[in-house]
Amino acid sequence: MSYNVAIDGPAGAGKSTIAKAVAKKKNLIYVDTGAMYRAMAVFMIREGISVDDVDAICSKCQEADITLGYENGEQVVYLAGENVNAYLRTEEVGNMASAISPHPPVRAKLVELQKALAAKNDCIMDGRDIGTCVLPNAQVKIYLTASSEVRAKRRYDELTAKGESCDLEKIKADIEERDYRDMHREHSPLKQAEDAILVDTSQMTIDEVIEHIICICDSARKLEKICKSMENAE
Ligand code: C5P
Repeated sequence: MSYNVAIDGPAGAGKSTIAKAVAKKKNLIYVDTGAMYRAMAVFMIREGISVDDVDAICSKCQEADITLGYENGEQVVYLAGENVNAYLRTEEVGNMASAISPHPPVRAKLVELQKALAAKNDCIMDGRDIGTCVLPNAQVKIYLTASSEVRAKRRYDELTAKGESCDLEKIKADIEERDYRDMHREHSPLKQAEDAILVDTSQMTIDEVIEHIICICDSARKLEKICKSMENAE
């Protein structure tokens, strides 16, 4: 059986930064499921499908040929064999991903792919529904969050460091709107799994969060070993 770590949480909580670092230290594959929804969004945009055309979204998604690979340790998302990583991080694609992700046929298609990856590989997977839907039996489940003020400030710092001009209040409003949509959708809403450990990173540095999560993974492993040896002794 493969070893799986699930990380869920709202936009901007630092899931991908943390998951990538933990993956490296624990020798796991990192699976960024948001990138898969974004690749589906690129497909819809290229097909000229509007966010309001639910019928087209639900039928066309079956034709999207999305696969994952790894190049120099980085996850690469392929759309019909084309590396589309360079197109995933725009506002247009992010908004389309958020608009198409509530529809069950889109989710079913991507969740199937995610489950197959996790069954074959020891991995750390991040998203919104990993602990609740995709990997309900993951050995470790983390719900990573931070206040919307802190998440907006981190995004603001990231953009200004790149020389992009932006408005902190607007970023915060966008983050809160996206949280609301992800948490209140009918199918697979973002929520903490009952058996997930809550990690609020508002007052923590990246290194502190990484260390904390590694500590949680190590403790879970030790506990699993103790339980197994007790079972064998019975
Ligand atoms: O994490 P990221 O911002 O890249 O995700 C883009 C969008 O994909 C999110 O706003 C969310 O609506 C959707 N998503 C999802 N389930 C996941 C991962 C992402 O619905 N497991």
